[in-house]
Amino acid sequence: MNNRKINFDTLPSFEGEIDPTQRAWIEVSGKAIESNVRQLRSKLKNNCEFMAVVKADGYGHDAKVVSEKAIKGGASQLGVATLKEGIKLRSFGINAPILVLGNLYTKKDLLICFRNDLMPTISTFRECLICNNIGKSNNLKFSLHLKVDTGMSRLGFECDQFVQQFNNIKSLENIAVKGIYSHLACADEKNALNPKSSTQLQKEKFQELLKIIDIDNTQNIKIHLANSAGMVLGKDFHFDMVRVGLSMYGYDPSVNINENLFLKPALFLKAKVTFVRTIEKGIGVSYGNKFVSDRKTKLAVLSIGYADGIIRNLSGKISLIHNKRLYPQVGSITMDQMMVDITDSNDIEVGSTMLLLGSEGDKSISPIDWADKCNSIPWEILCSFKNRLPRVQVD
Ligand SMILES: *Cc1c(COP(=O)(O)O)cnc(C)c1O
Repeated sequence: MNNRKINFDTLPSFEGEIDPTQRAWIEVSGKAIESNVRQLRSKLKNNCEFMAVVKADGYGHDAKVVSEKAIKGGASQLGVATLKEGIKLRSFGINAPILVLGNLYTKKDLLICFRNDLMPTISTFRECLICNNIGKSNNLKFSLHLKVDTGMSRLGFECDQFVQQFNNIKSLENIAVKGIYSHLACADEKNALNPKSSTQLQKEKFQELLKIIDIDNTQNIKIHLANSAGMVLGKDFHFDMVRVGLSMYGYDPSVNINENLFLKPALFLKAKVTFVRTIEKGIGVSYGNKFVSDRKTKLAVLSIGYADGIIRNLSGKISLIHNKRLYPQVGSITMDQMMVDITDSNDIEVGSTMLLLGSEGDKSISPIDWADKCNSIPWEILCSFKNRLPRVQVD
């Protein structure tokens, strides 16, 4: 008889029993998202709608949580980058209009877009024709947004060709133009408020174009231009809708900070201490021994590394919070772990939780701080976090 056989029935199911806060994780405050949206909406021009941009899994926060809370806070539309992101939101039962901000250029993708009740961003007449054909075969109108390029040189019709193209588009009976939009390239720069800045010029170009084309007001076409940084530039940037990402997650998008905004960061990045050791003076730490102790040093080994999305270039440049105190990270960040100098602490032990991003008491570390240290931007920091980090909704 095989007496080495393990009876798996008596063991707990593995996945189910793993505590998501056992190693490293992201806590997401749904309430912060909701209150940021509510607050941002209160700054908008009358009747201006709020599109919550939830691409890249809600900037790494979990698109489901973010979308639901943003809608609760008053967002009326959602923006995603890809078809898959949009389909995922539909699978959660979200009914709000969803705009795909990226470009869909094949018949197949546009058909999938239509079937999932997602609106594509359209930049060519050819794509309009494909959408019109899809609409016609289904005896319906295909809802979409047209994009014009006013200075980003990414997606969108050429400005000087749009007027004529729009006349052709209007004759297509099986598409419904739900929006016309453009995107700002430099709204987060210091000079954006300067009347001669490229941002102001982009806005004027967009306004002139809208004046020339004959928009039928009864069709309720939403005109939109501003991202987070554009929104804070003033109500003349709001049009019928704003597309807000970063500031909804709680971070100021630009140097043109609006003093009346009190945004709450929604993300808290945490990791557990799995080991504590003390090294003598003059001992090297981590790969390359780039850090050498200059005193007898107590080290905490933290269970998070660059495979979780912590940019390795931040090695030795960041601090972590525990019990309202800051502790420096030392030595190279490794794939799955990093070391922290906790010599000055008497309350950190194996199993303690340390905070990498977020706030506790008067101590606060934001993705903007990290971005400044590694020549990145907060957007990139937020969407670097890997799926190995469980997302845990805390409220
Ligand atoms: C990502 C994105 C936004 C949101 O940008 P934030 O700076 O995060 O507010 C708005 N519009 C488009 C087209 C985008 O791709």
